[in-house]
Amino acid sequence: MGRDAGKVLALLEVLAEFAFVVLVATLAVLLKTIDTRGFLASVAVGMAIIYGGGVSWFAIVAAFFVLGVAVTFYRYGYKKKLGGAQEKGGARNWPNILANGGMASLFSIGEILHPWPGFSALFLGAVSTSAADTAATELGLLSRSRPRLLTRPSSFVQPGSSGGVTPRGFGGAALACLVIGGLAFALRTVPGAGLAASAGLGVVGVCVFGGVAGSVGDSLMGAVVQRKGRCPVCLKPTEALRHCGEGTVVERGVPFVENNVVNAAATVVGGVAALALALAVRLV
Ligand SMILES: [Zn+2]
Repeated sequence: MGRDAGKVLALLEVLAEFAFVVLVATLAVLLKTIDTRGFLASVAVGMAIIYGGGVSWFAIVAAFFVLGVAVTFYRYGYKKKLGGAQEKGGARNWPNILANGGMASLFSIGEILHPWPGFSALFLGAVSTSAADTAATELGLLSRSRPRLLTRPSSFVQPGSSGGVTPRGFGGAALACLVIGGLAFALRTVPGAGLAASAGLGVVGVCVFGGVAGSVGDSLMGAVVQRKGRCPVCLKPTEALRHCGEGTVVERGVPFVENNVVNAAATVVGGVAALALALAVRLV
């Protein structure tokens, strides 16, 4: 009887988590921040994270999402005029969602299969990278100075091109990591890191270090391996796979390595960097 009651409770908990994730994703669709296939990807990512890491991990991913929407809409009209704004009013599609949340959900699944404090550091590093990259891209578009290539700082690139960096973008990235780090400390996402000030500093430091390392990795990969092409219709250089309704022609970089692939790889870099620092300061 006792064991059956336990099973029923566990089932109810999963159902409640599912209902909550569906509710949040439905809100995101209604606010036009994700499209319909993005809804399915968000529910999958959200379920893996809430089931594996609990409500605190889910809250951190939700905070990243809100931050992403906020920086996307910040001076959207101006960014649109520049030509660097997100398409479709900034609504994220399923590849965007998997690129930003895929690794975070794999770390959560890791936590289900084999609980280990290191997974929370990997998770925080991955989410900090996504938050930093989104803030850097969106705020970097508003930079007064032209972006420089991280790999060759003497050369300038078009605002919005991968591999380009600006002081404002860098500041945005650091701020985004501080938000994720502060929340991770408040919610005690890293088990073992109690309320001591030093532990708090450690958690925030892990997020900033992971997010900045991931963003630098993102810019390096964006400059070196990311696919760069040209639209066969309007002849503009573009990083997109399609432009003016036609497939674009590759000119530089690795053909399948488009922006979402680079973003996903950067979350691995950020996660591993965060884990390395967490291990070094004995946080996990
Ligand atoms: Zn075109």
